[in-house]
Amino acid sequence: MTDIFDNKILCKSCNVEMSPLELTKSGFVLRAVNCPKCNIRILHPKDEQEYKNFTNLRKKQFNVKMRFVGNSYAVSIPKEIVNFIKDHERIMDDMVKLCFEEFGRLSLDFGCKTPDCNDKLKEDIRRVN
Ligand SMILES: [Zn+2]
Repeated sequence: MTDIFDNKILCKSCNVEMSPLELTKSGFVLRAVNCPKCNIRILHPKDEQEYKNFTNLRKKQFNVKMRFVGNSYAVSIPKEIVNFIKDHERIMDDMVKLCFEEFGRLSLDFGCKTPDCNDKLKEDIRRVN
């Protein structure tokens, strides 16, 4: 089956061929087409739906338990989130980046298009100096 975006898409008001582009919203990449004349954008329907699912998942708060394993603590990441990342990124590494983002807050980086922990640290250092 061919993708709708593999076809020529004409702007309904200008009748010009729309050009493809990628938009990033909260680290989420969406395919879109843009009319060079009137600048109207159409999001890929599948990506738009996935983005909706993502925002719904983002709103959710999960209460997870910390378990003592060896010398560290382990936290279970809800299957819903892992499956979503797996489906979207297609490949998911077993290694994730963890950083102590701010006091009382940890962040996990699954290699998605989010700013690097080190970049954040650099920003914080700049702000202090
Ligand atoms: Zn147009």
